[in-house]
Amino acid sequence: MSKQTIAVHLPDGAVREVPAGTTPLEIANSISPRLAAASVAARLTPVGAAVKQSAAVDENASEAAMYAAEDAAGPYLVDLSTPLMADTGLELMKENDPEAIKVLRHSAAHVLATAVLELFPETKLGHGPATDSGFFYDFHREKPFVPEDLARIEAKMAEVIARDEPFRRESAPREKALEEFARDGDFMKTHFVTKFTAPGDQVSFYRNGKFVDFCRGPHVPSTGRVKAVKITNLAGAYWLGDEKNPQLQRIYGTAFFSQKAMDEHFARLEEAAKRDHRLLGKQLDLFSIQELAGAGLIFWHPKGGIVRKVMEDWMREECLRRGYSLVFTPHVMRRELWKISGHEGFYAGNMYTPMELDDAEYRLKPMNCPGHILIYKNSPRSYRDLPVRLAELGNVYRYERSGTMHGLLRVRGFTQDDAHIFCTPGQIEDEVVACIDFAEAVLKTFGFHEFIVELSTWDPNDRAHYAGSDENWNLAVGSLQRALDRKGIAYKTISGEAAFYGPKIDIKLVDVLGRLWQLSTVQFDFNLPARFELEYVGEDGERHQPVMVHRALFGSVERFFGVLIEHYAGAFPLWLAPVQIGLVPISERHHAYAQKVEAELKAAGLRVETDVRNEKMNGKIRDFANQKTPYILVFGDKEQEANSVSVRTRGKGDQGSVPLAEFIVKAKALVEKQSTEL
Ligand SMILES: [Zn+2]
Ligand SMILES: [Zn+2]
Repeated sequence: MSKQTIAVHLPDGAVREVPAGTTPLEIANSISPRLAAASVAARLTPVGAAVKQSAAVDENASEAAMYAAEDAAGPYLVDLSTPLMADTGLELMKENDPEAIKVLRHSAAHVLATAVLELFPETKLGHGPATDSGFFYDFHREKPFVPEDLARIEAKMAEVIARDEPFRRESAPREKALEEFARDGDFMKTHFVTKFTAPGDQVSFYRNGKFVDFCRGPHVPSTGRVKAVKITNLAGAYWLGDEKNPQLQRIYGTAFFSQKAMDEHFARLEEAAKRDHRLLGKQLDLFSIQELAGAGLIFWHPKGGIVRKVMEDWMREECLRRGYSLVFTPHVMRRELWKISGHEGFYAGNMYTPMELDDAEYRLKPMNCPGHILIYKNSPRSYRDLPVRLAELGNVYRYERSGTMHGLLRVRGFTQDDAHIFCTPGQIEDEVVACIDFAEAVLKTFGFHEFIVELSTWDPNDRAHYAGSDENWNLAVGSLQRALDRKGIAYKTISGEAAFYGPKIDIKLVDVLGRLWQLSTVQFDFNLPARFELEYVGEDGERHQPVMVHRALFGSVERFFGVLIEHYAGAFPLWLAPVQIGLVPISERHHAYAQKVEAELKAAGLRVETDVRNEKMNGKIRDFANQKTPYILVFGDKEQEANSVSVRTRGKGDQGSVPLAEFIVKAKALVEKQSTEL
C-alpha cells in the first residue's frame, strides 16, 4: 500500500490528511456513522478549481452527459466507494442534494434493466439516463412489451431492490469490452462504447448482482437505496432517432428516496393536471386554438378577453406611472429593416417567410425592438431627453416547429409587454433597479409570492463570441449586480449563458405548485445601438451611443395568462375574474329586482351576469360555482323587500344576507386594491 497521503478539503473548511485510496465513505464514517448512512454519493472539486454549475440533464442531452469525460475543472460526482487518489475538495451528498435524486434515478434505471434481463434475457440494452422527473431505459427485443409485462417488471424491480445488491464499479480494457458486446450482439452498447471512449481507454462498468452495464456512474451504494419506484410509461423510439433503424421500447419510470416523496410527486401531478390551462380554458370559455386558423394562434373569447383587458390596462397604467411612453408599431415591416437589425441573419429561422409586395419584401415582426429604435432615431436626442422608455403591448410572430406548440405557453403569435430603455451609462443602474421594482410589482399584484433571479453573464474566455466592448460588458454586468444588491435580492450567476449581445437578468416566478416559470427579463443590448448607429448628444456636446435595455415583465400576455390560469386553477381573484358576480333570482317574480341589482352593480363598475333561465335555484348556483364565479348573490321575496342579497362567497359558502349597498362597497374595495384574497 502506498504511504502517500492526500489532503481532503471539507465544506466546513476542515482539511483531512488521509492515505491515498481512502474512500468518501470511509471519511464519512470517520466523521459519524450516521452521516455515512445518510450519504448518497460524493461531489469532488479539484483543488483550486472554481465552482461551476453543472448542466441539467434533459432527454436529448442525456446521452452525452452520461458518458462524457468529467470536466476536469468543475466539480464532479463519484461513488462513495471511489478511492481518492489526489488532493481534492469533498462534499458528501445527502438525499436532499438536488443532484442526489438524479443519481438515485439513474440507479433505478439499472434496477429496471436488471429486472428486464431477468424476465426477458434475450433483450438488448440501450441506455438508461435520469431525466428531470425520472428516468428511462431503452430496450430492443422482437416482441414489444405489453402492459402485463410492465406489471411483472415492476414486481421484479421490487425484488432487486429487496436484495439490496451493492453497485460495484469495475473496469476493463475498451477493446475487450467491445469484443464482448459484439459477440453478444449488443449493438447499442457497442455504439456507446465506440462513441464515448477512445482507443486504449479503460471502460467502466457497474455491477449489481449478476447485472453489468457499461456506465460512467456514479450510483447510490446499493439497490436498496431506491425506496420508491414506479414505471410510468412505455413508448416506441427508433434507435438513434432514425426510422430506418430497429424500433426500441423505451420504458419510463420515476424513483424517490421515500414512498412519501413519491406520493407527493404524484399528488402534485394530479393537481397540475386539474389545473391544465388548456382544459380550464375550454371549461371556462376563456380562449381557443382553431384548427382552421392554424396551430399556435390564440383566439381570446369574451371571458378571456376581459381578463386580458384588465391585465393590459394595469400594465399600461403602471408604465405611464413609472415614466414610460406608450407606442404602437406595425406588424409587418420591410425586409431591409430586418437586415440592418441583423434578424435576417441570426434570427431568420424563427421568422415567417417574406411577403412580396409591389415596392419591396416585407416580414412579420418577431420582435418589437427595431420599431422602437426607429422611433428613438426619429428625433435628435440629447442627454437631457434620456432615459427614453418606450413601451408597447406588441404582437409578434415567431415560427415554432409544428408539434412543439403547447396551449398558451408555446405559440406562434403572441403579445409581449415589451419596453426598450435608452439611457446614458450613468443612468443605467437606476434604470435596472426600476425594472426590478416593476417586475416585483407585477408578481405581487398578480399573486405570486416567490421568485428566483438568475444573472446570465458572458464567458470572458470566449471573447470572440460576444459583441460589444469589454467596458460595455463590465458596465452592464456591474450595474445588474449592483442593482440586485441594492434591492437585496439573492441571485444565481450563470457565466457563459448571456446572449452574444449582452448580459441579462431572468426572473422566474414560483407558482402555487412550486413550479418555476420564466417570465420577466431585463436584457442589455450592445448590438442594436451599434447596428442602427443610435446617438445622443452628451453634456460634453459630443455624440455618444446610448445604452439600450430590452425588458418584458409578463413576458408574453398569452403565456402569463396561461400561468395565471394554472396558478389560480381558473378561480381568478375578484379584480381579474371575467364575471365577478353571478345573480340568481329565485323565481320569475324576482327578475325585476334582479335588473335593479344588476344595474347598481354595473354602475359601481362590477362585472355581473344574471341567470334568468327557468331553472332551479340550486342548478343556477352550481353553474356559477362551476365557472368559479367569486360571488353568487341569491335573492327572493325577503331580500327584495329588504333591498338586500344573500351572498355566497367562492370557497366560503353561504355568508347570509347583507344590504346590497354594503355588498357593493365591500366588492368595490377588493377590486380597487387588486386583492388576491378572493
Ligand atoms: Zn449507470
Ligand atoms: Zn427588444
